[in-house]
Amino acid sequence: GEAISLPDIEPSRLQITRTTDPKQLPPSSSLLFGRTFTDHMLRIPWSGLTGWGAPSIEPYSTINLTPSATVLHYAQSLFEGLKAYRHTDGTVTMFRPDMNMKRMNNSAQRLALPAFNGEALIEMIKKLVSIDREWIPKEPGHSLYIRPTMIGTNGALGVQPPTEALLFVICSPVGPYYPRGFKPVPLYGTTEYIRAAPGGTGAFKLAANYAPGVVAQKSAAKAGYVQNLWLHGPEHYLTEVGTMNLFVALKGEDGVAELVTPPLDGMILPGVTRDSVLALARNHVSGAKKLPGLPDKLKISERPITMGEVIQANNAGRLIELFGTGTAAVVTPVDKIGYQGGDVHIPTGEDGMGPISKPLWTELVGIQTGTIQSDWNVVV
Ligand code: PMP
Repeated sequence: GEAISLPDIEPSRLQITRTTDPKQLPPSSSLLFGRTFTDHMLRIPWSGLTGWGAPSIEPYSTINLTPSATVLHYAQSLFEGLKAYRHTDGTVTMFRPDMNMKRMNNSAQRLALPAFNGEALIEMIKKLVSIDREWIPKEPGHSLYIRPTMIGTNGALGVQPPTEALLFVICSPVGPYYPRGFKPVPLYGTTEYIRAAPGGTGAFKLAANYAPGVVAQKSAAKAGYVQNLWLHGPEHYLTEVGTMNLFVALKGEDGVAELVTPPLDGMILPGVTRDSVLALARNHVSGAKKLPGLPDKLKISERPITMGEVIQANNAGRLIELFGTGTAAVVTPVDKIGYQGGDVHIPTGEDGMGPISKPLWTELVGIQTGTIQSDWNVVV
């Protein structure tokens, strides 16, 4: 037969129903991450027969699902996380939303859920954020966390590609992750649980990757650590930190500083913050944009790194710092790794942040909050 392409997300079909019962934005000091939601949400239905339906922005409300919906049985669910920031002049921008759309489409493809036009979804999200813009707290360091999600909704107990899906976007006002300055976290070097494996789904943002991590995190917390440092294989390769990417800064035998992050080998989620940190560091080294405070000579490596190498560098006084990166906290310094019954103490700077992460964080946050101009910002 003839290949017929089904309708994609079509911004001109958007229907807007505003709430008649607007809620109050709670005091910013009382905001807990991801507990408060704005007045509106975006919904876009999809069917295998008719493609993407008309997008709607409507009051935030419950979703009706049949108990046989595939998402409830086989975790046909994926999500994204990005932020909108209010600049001091009132402009609202989202940070690199194209990267999230790309990753979301990759996740959809991995789950046999439908692909979509990322630019069209960005248009719809802009509209949603713009309608709920008063929900972005005005205090410094605050932002609006945006959570696009896609689920399989048709009722079917056979394991097969969903024939119906729902894409929805909700938003949550959030405060700074570290309201009282940087607080380095202790990690538990985890070998008894894994987050990702070769050939698995670690490189995709699937709901199914997260549920099994909760018990591992709880067990790390019980032992006095904050997050899991996911170690892979008998060599104990460092992969990720909780739900963040990981960077190690160390001096080589030649004394030159090296910024290392594990390669995108299928086990690492391609973080937007990871990509941004690498890009800023590379621009510094190439001279395209020097970052004050960052060493002029800096080697940047996407390469595997083992616990053995980290411990050896630490014992030789060559370990500079270790930190996680992600949308929620941007940069999280690490001060300790519980490993094989002992603790490896990691150097941190005086104010909690090390000499490599500090200049990178300063630049990144400057861009996100609008004090530094960048084409990574998309105006809402
Ligand atoms: N790794 C995992 C497993 C994550 O869930 C996240 C958060 N999305 C990250 C890394 C960081 O990605 P990003 O910088 O895009 O937030």
